[in-house]
Amino acid sequence: MFIPFVSFDKMHHLIKKELFGAFNNTLDSNWFIGGFRDKKFEDSFSEYLGSNFCIGCGNGLDALVISLKSLGIGAGDEVIIPANTFIATALAVTYIGATPVLVEPRKDTYNIDSSKIEAAITPKTKAIIPVHLYGQPADMDPIMEIANRHGLLVIEDTAQAHGAKYHEKAAGTFGNVGAFSFYPGKNLGALGDAGAVVTNDAELADKIRAMGNYGSREKYVHEFKGQNSRLDEIQAAFLSVKLPHLDTWNEERRRIANRYLSEITNPEVILPTVIDGVEPVWHIFAIRTEDRDGLKHYLEEKGIQTGIHYPTPIHLHEAYKDLGYKMGDFPIAEEISTTELSLPMFYGLTDDQIDYVIDSINEYRPA
Ligand SMILES: *Cc1c(COP(=O)(O)O)cnc(C)c1O
Repeated sequence: MFIPFVSFDKMHHLIKKELFGAFNNTLDSNWFIGGFRDKKFEDSFSEYLGSNFCIGCGNGLDALVISLKSLGIGAGDEVIIPANTFIATALAVTYIGATPVLVEPRKDTYNIDSSKIEAAITPKTKAIIPVHLYGQPADMDPIMEIANRHGLLVIEDTAQAHGAKYHEKAAGTFGNVGAFSFYPGKNLGALGDAGAVVTNDAELADKIRAMGNYGSREKYVHEFKGQNSRLDEIQAAFLSVKLPHLDTWNEERRRIANRYLSEITNPEVILPTVIDGVEPVWHIFAIRTEDRDGLKHYLEEKGIQTGIHYPTPIHLHEAYKDLGYKMGDFPIAEEISTTELSLPMFYGLTDDQIDYVIDSINEYRPA
């Protein structure tokens, strides 16, 4: 049996007519940027999350960059991020000239360890970027409490957690802003690059929108040095077709995850922990095992594709050697990077396929 790591087939098959309709209508409208399709998607996405404002932009990295810039963070400032995130979180911080300060994740949830944040705060710290990694919300109560006590801004990297909840409230709506990516493989994905920022702060929303539009609120009037990062009408139209299905797709991911959690019983495999009061959306189903590469190879031979998120923690990338960290500085992030394996997880996995993944893993014996 062949099981891909991810497939869009079933998801897109169900909405193919609507996607074609969205394309036709946008083409005929002759309006491709900053029109009512952007507005419609932004309004429905902020309403879906329970946030006051949504600003579409080019991608998830830009969503972080324009948020940080609009919040006034820049050269000389430090921003706390988890050591085991996707590179984009760190790149956003360095793009604006600030310095990322890494904090270890928890080994059980893979999210930033809130008990280790305070030790990383210095007089230069301006913000924390919690990442809701793999679709499980970070522990936002202690994170917001620390941020408030130290007067720090909070930018939630919600690129992997569209619709995830923490104590009934949507991930991305706790901090000053929530940054989203609609990269095709995310839980809510465009048919190309796209992103958005959500916030409850009207003035900040206005600034973020201008930041992604050349620093301009009024044509040819530039108050600050912005950039070009806008949501295409065509992507907004596709996203509006998909958004009403997101809860169904996330629910199916939870069903698959619950089967993995209850039926994978191989003692060689460590399953992810879900903290109390959260509703994850399982962007990634991450297991850990000592001989990760061995298990990956074994599953590959059986036709099961898997992923690794991520093989290298931020501090060990060539690109970040200037931060001056070395191997051994973040042992938990390092251990996750050598033991983590991501199982197939997408809307459209059949029960036969799920059975086969579970049985194959349970039959695995390390060499
Ligand atoms: C995907 C992702 C991003 C970046 O999104 P792009 O749309 O690819 O720019 C940022 N942070 C995290 C955690 C991501 O997974």
